[in-house]
Amino acid sequence: MSGGGYAAQNGAGGSYTNGPSQNPVGVYSSNQGLMAPPLTGFMNSLTTKGPPPPGPNPYITGRHQPSPVAPPPSSWSGVAPPPSSYSQHPQPGVTPPPVAPPPSSYSQHPQPGVMPPPVAPPPSSYSQHPQPGVTPPPVAPPPSSYSQHPQPGIMPPPVAPPPSSYSQHPQPGVTPPPVAPPPSSYSQHPQPGVMLPPVAPPPSSWSGVTQAPVAPPPSSWSGVTPTPVAPPPRSWSGVTSTPVAPPPVGNHTGPGPYSTGTRLPPVFQNTMQPPAALQQAGLYQAQPGQMIRPPAYHSPSAPALYTQVQPSGSAAQLSPSLAAMSLQSQTPEALRVVNLLQERNILPSGAVTPPTPCLPQDLQKINCCPEVFRCTLTSIPQTQALLNKAKLPLGLLLHPFKDLSQLPVVTSSNIVRCRSCRTYINPFVTFVDARRWKCNLCHRVNDVPEEFMYNPVSRSYGAPHKRPEVQNATIEFIAPSEYMLRPPQPAVYLFVLDVSHNAVETGYLDVVCQSLLENLDSLPGDSRTKIGFITFDSTIHFYNLQEGLSQPQMLIVSDIDDVFLPSPDSLLVNLSECKELVQDLLTGLPQMFSSTMETQSGLGPALQAGFKLLSPTGGRISVFQTQLPTVGIGALKPREEPGQKAHAKQEVQHLNPATDFYKKLALDCSGHHVAVDLFLLSAQYCDLSSLGCISRYSAGSVYYYPSYHRQRSPAQTERFQRDLKRYLTRKIGFEAVMRIRCTKGLSIHTFHGNFFVRSTDLLSLANVNPDAGFAVQMSIEENLLDLQAVSFQAALLYTSSKGERRIRVHTLCLPVVNSLSDIFAGADVQAITALLASMAVDRSVTASLGDARDALINAAIDSLSSYRSSVLSVQQPGLLAPACLRLLPLYILALLKHRAFRTSASTRLDERVFSMFQLKSQPLPFLMLTVHPGLYRADDLSDEGALNVSERTIPQPRALQLSVEKLSRDAAFLMDCGTVLYLWIGRNCNPVFLTQVLGVESYAAVPLNMDQLPELDTAESSRIRALIDWLRERRPFHPVLHVIRDESPLKAEFLQYLIEDLSESALSYYEFLLHLQQQICK
Ligand SMILES: [Zn+2]
Repeated sequence: MSGGGYAAQNGAGGSYTNGPSQNPVGVYSSNQGLMAPPLTGFMNSLTTKGPPPPGPNPYITGRHQPSPVAPPPSSWSGVAPPPSSYSQHPQPGVTPPPVAPPPSSYSQHPQPGVMPPPVAPPPSSYSQHPQPGVTPPPVAPPPSSYSQHPQPGIMPPPVAPPPSSYSQHPQPGVTPPPVAPPPSSYSQHPQPGVMLPPVAPPPSSWSGVTQAPVAPPPSSWSGVTPTPVAPPPRSWSGVTSTPVAPPPVGNHTGPGPYSTGTRLPPVFQNTMQPPAALQQAGLYQAQPGQMIRPPAYHSPSAPALYTQVQPSGSAAQLSPSLAAMSLQSQTPEALRVVNLLQERNILPSGAVTPPTPCLPQDLQKINCCPEVFRCTLTSIPQTQALLNKAKLPLGLLLHPFKDLSQLPVVTSSNIVRCRSCRTYINPFVTFVDARRWKCNLCHRVNDVPEEFMYNPVSRSYGAPHKRPEVQNATIEFIAPSEYMLRPPQPAVYLFVLDVSHNAVETGYLDVVCQSLLENLDSLPGDSRTKIGFITFDSTIHFYNLQEGLSQPQMLIVSDIDDVFLPSPDSLLVNLSECKELVQDLLTGLPQMFSSTMETQSGLGPALQAGFKLLSPTGGRISVFQTQLPTVGIGALKPREEPGQKAHAKQEVQHLNPATDFYKKLALDCSGHHVAVDLFLLSAQYCDLSSLGCISRYSAGSVYYYPSYHRQRSPAQTERFQRDLKRYLTRKIGFEAVMRIRCTKGLSIHTFHGNFFVRSTDLLSLANVNPDAGFAVQMSIEENLLDLQAVSFQAALLYTSSKGERRIRVHTLCLPVVNSLSDIFAGADVQAITALLASMAVDRSVTASLGDARDALINAAIDSLSSYRSSVLSVQQPGLLAPACLRLLPLYILALLKHRAFRTSASTRLDERVFSMFQLKSQPLPFLMLTVHPGLYRADDLSDEGALNVSERTIPQPRALQLSVEKLSRDAAFLMDCGTVLYLWIGRNCNPVFLTQVLGVESYAAVPLNMDQLPELDTAESSRIRALIDWLRERRPFHPVLHVIRDESPLKAEFLQYLIEDLSESALSYYEFLLHLQQQICK
């Protein structure tokens, strides 16, 4: 292929655009070759490409792919709220009730279960409380003021006094009242009474800001000169009038453009007021390393944030900043040129950390934690053209309901939101003046409601910018009644259990019943919690558990073609009232079917029954299935031919569901707030691509335990038990919706994860769980030329298990840049890999695996080509990557060898489909472990550099390349693949390790199926067990451990993870690099 092919790619077409692109590669695809159809890169609009997928497609749920199968059920309008009802949220345009500053309370401990009265605005309260049972480190340490000033148990004065009273009764810890008029520079051209149009483009200069109409101050500020906010005389950078050329290369590792002020593209100077966080910090004029705090209060009329900070700066004081300009000649670490062919050792010594967005320090400090919300590009390109040129995918990765150790919770009668776009007030809005804030998404100027002037944290009045809503990028609201269209539902749990001969034979039933018995009191819920059970084989069995019965009553429905509920009122019962009957049932259930000879499975009818039972309330159905459904609706036939490689067309068919029954039922479930979680325990083919639809579209989870058998696979049993415990006791949100908003100009178009897309930006989540991840793709529809930063906000509205309606809001702020080098410098290689993986799954099921693999390879080729041609100023030989993307080719190769995309015939269909599900629904850190496992030397662990976690010492060995070269026969190695850990023992391993860690005398004595380490009282043993425990604790599933040696049956599995090596069907890492280089340098 000539270089022309790439020229075309670098132009209008390209992997991530809608335009056509060429297929420059053919090496890896089975059927593509050079004759491949134009189906390479990942187009945003897959429908326009290639042949239509056969059958319904389970993966496409975005708005470009309206569901051909089933619209949301019409019953929405009956039992459940209408589709749009939750999304609209409360009454735009309705003025909040004119209330005096409400009595506010601030408590350490919220009062769960207490709902605000629907009419009278409740006292607002604020709490910062740890979530029980959560160990992960705090996402973002709360501002110190929270910990310093709360006074639990002490009620603040019931009514916030008028401003004037503040001066008479100053409270300790509360900033004194304003005393002198603020500096007047903002009010050069006030035009009182003129409202800003809601979407007015930002003014192009500081003077434009002052021309912005300013309303007279509210009467409560009476006697105060209407002096609006004074802008700092200079831009964020501290250098305004000096024309600054766009930086050739972002100075990302130094103090950053915002702080040095010398690297700003002009757009940064055409700025509006800096966001609230920045204003209040008084940092926007600061010079590098120089924190300038505004004098506490020198104005009677303006709180601190409006106070003009005296520029510390005349030209003389700029010298540190100017001196910093010398950094321009240095290359930031992110853009350090790496020749991948020469630099073998590219893994960082510790974890791969996400890049830090290039924002002012205080803004960044308050920004959303990357574990919850991150973007593939931490510097957003100004235009789509620039994004196309960079050839990097733009998208968000979310973990919205993650367990957090600290979560600020606010109760308020009036949740402050933009009247135009309904964005929740957040740390990145701008306070235009004391009484108005500007939305950071649509730029509309909104009023600050009276009650928002009172801060329940500091118990002070007149500093809305210090409210917790403006101090925390992640916050939760207890919603008032207008966020409810019906009374919040109780927690409802239905267990649907396969009791066919095959199921009983695996022994899973005892594990489930035992686990439920043990955790019955820990199921999230309250006194309203309901529970029910259905078992099925060729018939369906219901259980009457009504209070007053002496024992559970089994009701059998054998007409599975027309399932009905035999006793609708007594099948779902109140857990606390009927606990004894429930316990009786769980104790007796495993024996009831122990001698069954029934081999048929009527899963479909059982699910229909479950839906009928739960549809009036909503809730969660947990299905346990051990075989292919054989009778009734939803019955399936085997499609996999073991050991035979399907040809491409068949392959695509097999990745798609064989019937639309499960998807249709899932959509019915979703419409009635019912989610279905599927536990598949089977050594046989079960057609997961069909069955999985029941969870995909109802926002459920899929768990898969291939070759599960209680006796034959004790490690799997342990994993199943641990996973079940987590599953039963983890947090759950019911009747949830999630909306993702972004700054005007950006557009969200494709979602990945388990949900139903109800409208363009609204995901319907019948249930939400803390282990679910989501991804979205974005494009830039309007140029962002006037913006210095953009924001993304995810708002998750759900009903807690205690019946509270809550809204969790995450807001992420990212800078906008206008040069390719800045875009590259901000690239987040793990987020990019995760998004590409989701896109490749979609491509596999709509086009083919070969296509998806080509697209992955092209993603690496395209971005590195773009880097080479557009960013590198000096051409040099080799395969060159910026340091921040040096892992991209490795990760792409890892994806090509991942179970989801590899071509080897040994990959079983259900395992492939499950891997694809996982790639689309796991939070990023867990996903990355399955893509690129961690490998550590395990026989020489030391305390050097160890972590200390709750008085335990956790060794932190260095990550090694995944190559056989790194394994040495006289050592032992631990490999962490996410859901499985391998401890590989070399043939000549140090005997001390064998005795002190494994408790065996020699290599030959290492058992072939060892899956636990003995608890030996030696330093070596406790170090490695501490490491393994620590790895396990940090994920929501339980990885099993396999100790293996050369003779172990699992050795081949272990070797497959050594992705840098040549394998049966894929190149080695070095060969892959050579291939990329060849393509790039054509
Ligand atoms: Zn707005």
